[in-house]
Amino acid sequence: MMSNRRAFIRSAAVTAAAAGSGLLLPGVAGARSAPQPTPVPAPVPPHRIIALEEHFILPEFVDYLAETKQNIRPALFDKVVPILSDFGARRLDVMDSNGVDFAVLSLSGPGVQIEPETARAVRLARLANDRLAEEVAKKPTRYGGFAHLALQDPNAAADELERCVTQLKFQGALVNGETNGVYLDDRRYDIFWERVQALNVPVYLHPGNPPDKSHMYSDHPEMWGPVWSWAVETCSHALRLVFSGVFERFPRAQVILGHMGETLPIQLWRLDSRIAISNTTHTLPHPPSHYLKQNIRLTTSGVCSDSALRCALDAFGTENVMFSIDYPFEDSKTAVAWIKRANLTEAERNAVAYGNAGRILHLA
Ligand code: MN
Repeated sequence: MMSNRRAFIRSAAVTAAAAGSGLLLPGVAGARSAPQPTPVPAPVPPHRIIALEEHFILPEFVDYLAETKQNIRPALFDKVVPILSDFGARRLDVMDSNGVDFAVLSLSGPGVQIEPETARAVRLARLANDRLAEEVAKKPTRYGGFAHLALQDPNAAADELERCVTQLKFQGALVNGETNGVYLDDRRYDIFWERVQALNVPVYLHPGNPPDKSHMYSDHPEMWGPVWSWAVETCSHALRLVFSGVFERFPRAQVILGHMGETLPIQLWRLDSRIAISNTTHTLPHPPSHYLKQNIRLTTSGVCSDSALRCALDAFGTENVMFSIDYPFEDSKTAVAWIKRANLTEAERNAVAYGNAGRILHLA
């Protein structure tokens, strides 16, 4: 106790002496001679910024979008519809004021994926794609497009993807999770994956609500939706693709996961380790991480965290991580300001901000 008090008195005396000399008072004469910290140079900004989980809505799809009302505050839902509906001044102003050069647009989910009538789903998906193509044609240097697909009919979905890529010049497709309870690892989708691989375009696997709700979410509405259940749902969907051998059968098929890989980057080692003792009839020649790294690309949408980005880059490779915002559900200013200053090398920053997207989406 006494020694602590002595130490306190000594340090107080030193502080007082320093204050007296002006060392602790910036702006007075004595402060000028104090060593100044070396200023840290600002990171070199990326040459371009491309974002690819950027959403819109059309009047015919607002009722489907209402299915997501359960996941967010109802007041927010009503505010977001007019923002999603705009393809002009408002959207471009947010892009321009934040320096987003190019946005690949996709219909806000779940869209026709919850439509029980297959014929209606096929017709509406085509309508959504035609309408998006019209908007892209008005601003071809600013917007690209992901196809909306009626996966109720795998053959029609494959044909529509081909039409969207070859005729409408879209960059791939965005799928909102399972379709009426069927996941994309079902063998009925082999025809779809075959076409995805042949067209050499990615399928963005975006979250959606499954038809059933696990007991683990009971009494916790906050866990149902973007806070947690969407990550569980979407990374589980990706693992179904891996374990069912979709990527063994279609090794060049590409899938994009948003939200920094929906927790997968941190799981690779454990997946490879524990598959050896799992009680499964699915046997694959390679460990899970082989297929995840070979076939899955990631975006940073909705995760502005240096440590999460470092993990994603290290786990999946610098060439497989792409910047995205998730407009308008995430704040463009926050996301862009973050990627401009994130703890990356100049080469990594350019790869994430636009280079990888340019290569993977075949953007000129
Ligand atoms: Mn999204």
